[in-house]
Amino acid sequence: MLLITCPNCGPRDETEFHYGGQAHVAYPENPAELTDAEWSRYLFYRENPKGAFAERWVHTAGCRKWFNAVRDTVTYEFKSIYTGAAPAATTAAATNGGQK
Ligand SMILES: [Zn+2]
Repeated sequence: MLLITCPNCGPRDETEFHYGGQAHVAYPENPAELTDAEWSRYLFYRENPKGAFAERWVHTAGCRKWFNAVRDTVTYEFKSIYTGAAPAATTAAATNGGQK
């Protein structure tokens, strides 16, 4: 059983959480100017790295608050859990799939 540490409630069972997809996907600056292809890329295209990946999670059976986590997609290990912007040490590896 996987334990996830909620920033507000502490360690809880994974069944209390829901996955919210890739973290730090910026909303388009001028959404009215996007083509259909650019909209589809924003809405549906997400990275699928092998390794560190920044994700959104929500504690649905607890405080119901959203937070971010960097999780290793190979080992399922949570490397860091945070709210707000990505920690500087994890930004590069987590947001580009570990590639430079
Ligand atoms: Zn919580």
